[in-house]
Amino acid sequence: MSEAASGPLSSAGNNVRRNVRRLREQRHWGYRDVEERLARVGRAIPALGLSAIDTGQRHVDVDDLVALAAVFDTGIEELLLPPANCRTCHGAPPPGFRCMECDTSALPAS
Ligand SMILES: [Zn+2]
Repeated sequence: MSEAASGPLSSAGNNVRRNVRRLREQRHWGYRDVEERLARVGRAIPALGLSAIDTGQRHVDVDDLVALAAVFDTGIEELLLPPANCRTCHGAPPPGFRCMECDTSALPAS
């Protein structure tokens, strides 16, 4: 794993991580299922790498992003944005709060 792959995740990176996990869990896919589907779209990420993405240890690069969008049949924009279909906060927790369900946090009210 390279140096560039470590360090804190940006909020966009965090959104991707959460969206990928949510989409995977919604489909009841394991890492191996995602790995196989990624290989089919020409972007193999081993299950270990997918697990590292899940925990924020590996950053998703643009090629990963394109492949993940294809695998989950969603748009790249959907992966980058905070989840809007969270039943608890609908993607918009109250200012200053973090949603326990989808891990989206809102900036404190100024
Ligand atoms: Zn939420």
